[in-house]
Amino acid sequence: MVKQTIQIYARVKPSRRPPGIYSISNEEAAASSLEIIVPRDLADGFVNNKRESYKFRFQETFDQETKQEAIFESIAKPVAESVLTGYNGTIFAYGQTGSGKTFTITGGAERYSDRGIIPRTLSYIFEQLQKDSSKVYTAHISYLEIYNECGYDLLDPRHEASKLEDLPKVTIMEDPEQNIHLKNLSLQPAATEEEALNLLFLGDTNRMIAETPMNQASTRSHCIFTIHISSKEPGSATVRRSKLHLVDLAGSERVAKTGVAGQLLTEAKYINLSLHYLEQVIIALAEKNRSHVPYRNSMMTSVLRDSLGGNCMTTMIATLSIDKRNIDESISTCRFAQRVALIRNEAVLNEETDPQLVIVRLKKEIQALKDEIVLITGEQRTSDLTPDELQRLEEQLHNFLDDVDRDSVLEVGADMRKIHYCFGFFKRFFHEKKSSDSGGSSPERPATTSARPEEMKKLRDLLQQRDNEINILVSMIKKEKRRNQDAAYKIPSTPPRPHTGPKGEGNSVQRGLQDTATPSGGDTRPIALHRKTGA
Ligand code: ADP
Ligand code: MG
Repeated sequence: MVKQTIQIYARVKPSRRPPGIYSISNEEAAASSLEIIVPRDLADGFVNNKRESYKFRFQETFDQETKQEAIFESIAKPVAESVLTGYNGTIFAYGQTGSGKTFTITGGAERYSDRGIIPRTLSYIFEQLQKDSSKVYTAHISYLEIYNECGYDLLDPRHEASKLEDLPKVTIMEDPEQNIHLKNLSLQPAATEEEALNLLFLGDTNRMIAETPMNQASTRSHCIFTIHISSKEPGSATVRRSKLHLVDLAGSERVAKTGVAGQLLTEAKYINLSLHYLEQVIIALAEKNRSHVPYRNSMMTSVLRDSLGGNCMTTMIATLSIDKRNIDESISTCRFAQRVALIRNEAVLNEETDPQLVIVRLKKEIQALKDEIVLITGEQRTSDLTPDELQRLEEQLHNFLDDVDRDSVLEVGADMRKIHYCFGFFKRFFHEKKSSDSGGSSPERPATTSARPEEMKKLRDLLQQRDNEINILVSMIKKEKRRNQDAAYKIPSTPPRPHTGPKGEGNSVQRGLQDTATPSGGDTRPIALHRKTGA
């Protein structure tokens, strides 16, 4: 994590008349001070305390002669470098209309050397991406214009916009984790510097065409050009994603110049309400124990939420057009910058793991491990046991259970599938035993998945044997009955001898048995008969 306050720089726009109303001292190593001297004729009506000079500290102050190249090297290149390593970055230009915001961020159209931060940064980034073959990079571009609290996609390829309102409208969505998503803002892929520059050109063309004197879009709207970069090492599931916002804000000038002594700087209103909200966010962030920051008041502060007091390395360029007429605006721009400099951001490396890539990696790993098993055991393993393996394993389990020797062991080898199957078998056995102990039928071994044929045969034989026994008994009863009847005919004076207990029970047994009986010989064992029929 990189904790850093927002870096502030000042850039003074060239003016024809040498003003002599400011001075820059870049004596210190990491700071410079800009002194604005209020001319005598203005000083009286300017502020209450009649101060004649104002000093502001910046990381660096760039004088009128500073070339675009130098601005890129000092301000943008360090930010682009950290974006390439996976941190978010933002560079925004703030200043009154005509002070050089667009010139600094996008550049001047006349000379190639007037190229601003966006084209130079694109050039630098793509050069770095090409150099680094250790990673796979992808880059996307988006370009958003916010005018009057409405977002417009400047890169929509389907539109030949003639008005700003013709462009697709972009809206803000917030997810449960309070992350901001921009609905309808297209992310255009850019594989080369040229493709990215074409996108910048398309966006700038839309920006220009959409502007009418009525809406004064360039002075009242914010434009956010964003480079989205993702990178990963080949074969790795970790992806780094970072964003670089290059922001050209609306003009910061105030509407009414009251001219009333002492009131100019305190009562002035912003021409642009969202810049007013930006200021409120910045004031809130600069206050120490402030818990609520009013990001949501405007679309621009919502979109730049991370850049202001969040996960981002942010840089502000205060553009100044210091001449007599604009001295108050220049001072207010510098004051704004001083407050911005108090904001502390915490940029983190944006690394995440892509689940799809993890799956691919794990599949590869599983295959490698399977190959290793084949190599070690010499047998090919499927994810389930084959029917053959199952049958063998069940035989082993039955033999193990039948074996009365306490020291006998069950050897299934180093095969987790078999080990898990055995545990499952014993678990079922245990549960069946438990339920039989609490009043169920006698414990049986758990049903194995396939009934063995020899066991079936054993059971059928047993059944047959029982049938035979029943038949023998039935024929015995019949014989007995006949004998009794014969005896009754021969000796009519003798009363019949009851031999099967109470009359009703005996009758019912005989009736039931007569239906199925087929006589066959055998010995007579009345006790066995009693036990069977009573059951
Ligand atoms: P803003 O976007 O702040 O309204 P611009 O960037 O459009 O201001 O600048 C206004 C004019 O001044 C443009 O014509 C621009 O080319 C010119 N300009 C601004 N800054 C510089 C500079 N540093 N060097 C040369 N010309 C500049
Ligand atoms: Mg501009």
